[in-house]
Amino acid sequence: MIQKIFFKAFLMTIFLFSISAMAQELPSKPKNIILMIGDGMGLAQITAAMTVNGNNLQMERFTQIGLQKTHSSDNYVTDSGASGTAMATGEKTYNGAIGVDTAGNPLPTILEYAEKHGKATGLVTTCAITHATPAAFIAHVPNRSSYEDIAADFLKTDIDVFIGGGLKHFRQRADGKDLTLELEESGYRVVYEKGELIDVTSGKLAGLLYDVHPPKYSEGRGDILLHASMKAIGILNMDPDGFFLMIEGSQIDWGGHDNDINYIVDETIDFDRVVGQVLDFAEKNGETLVIVTADHECGGLGLNGGDMSGKTVDAGFTGDQHTAVMVPVFASGPGSEVFRGIYENTGIFFRMMEAFGFDPAQ
Ligand code: MG
Ligand code: ZN
Repeated sequence: MIQKIFFKAFLMTIFLFSISAMAQELPSKPKNIILMIGDGMGLAQITAAMTVNGNNLQMERFTQIGLQKTHSSDNYVTDSGASGTAMATGEKTYNGAIGVDTAGNPLPTILEYAEKHGKATGLVTTCAITHATPAAFIAHVPNRSSYEDIAADFLKTDIDVFIGGGLKHFRQRADGKDLTLELEESGYRVVYEKGELIDVTSGKLAGLLYDVHPPKYSEGRGDILLHASMKAIGILNMDPDGFFLMIEGSQIDWGGHDNDINYIVDETIDFDRVVGQVLDFAEKNGETLVIVTADHECGGLGLNGGDMSGKTVDAGFTGDQHTAVMVPVFASGPGSEVFRGIYENTGIFFRMMEAFGFDPAQ
């Protein structure tokens, strides 16, 4: 009898073991995706920031790591329009394109798919919201410098939250329209100063905090990327269907163009602080896939030497333009395993679509 009970208990243990093993193996789908793009953030940029930050970055918390190939349809070296479009739509296009294919036809973006499936959506940047990277997720124009057309495309979507600069492209337009009035008519709370963000806790929010671009972190931008990102998450997370949010650290790239290592490091550390808080949210939330990547490297940054204890690097640059090297992809949360490996930048889109369970044919 006792033997029988032991045997039963033994079987039960095995059964429970296999159940829990199965539960761990089941592919889990995220309800939310937060895609974070460090513009121009290659491995050297990350290593420099890590060194100056005391051999430590929040990005080190990721365990799922991959690499993406960044070339565009017409150039070995991409620009942010083509690479942003590749990640947003799954199609390689020409440099300068925003959300259109090589023939100039509009391509549906991951943000638009998320909207179609009832999710809340958002964009947060440290540049004009009309600039190439955020634009690639929401606008469809043949040329990235058509900022006023890009601003107008924001009104053709149901985006819930967008925060950055670019007020000028909504207000001082060649067509004489004031799109901030149209935004208000469409139910947005339009906010012009970062202090006003605190008052907004729900509903649609358009944060147009600067005429064009926010200043450098070192020139007084403060923690605006952090505040704006956490504000966006707080609002978007109220949607029972989940959300898609793209957060960009825009100016890491500009430090590369300027061959200014301090600019690169400050902007990367600012971006990394946001990565840390986003991971804190995602770990608590349990249903959020977080992806951190770049659109390309910039400057051909090399670290010829440095001093870990002195927190300094000896930086060299091969030029002042983008380069073609692969860029890292870090992922965490449900669905993050598929971000391991080496793949084209278009693979970011397909992996996000798969994670959400969206069918591109629909
Ligand atoms: Mg950008
Ligand atoms: Zn650039």
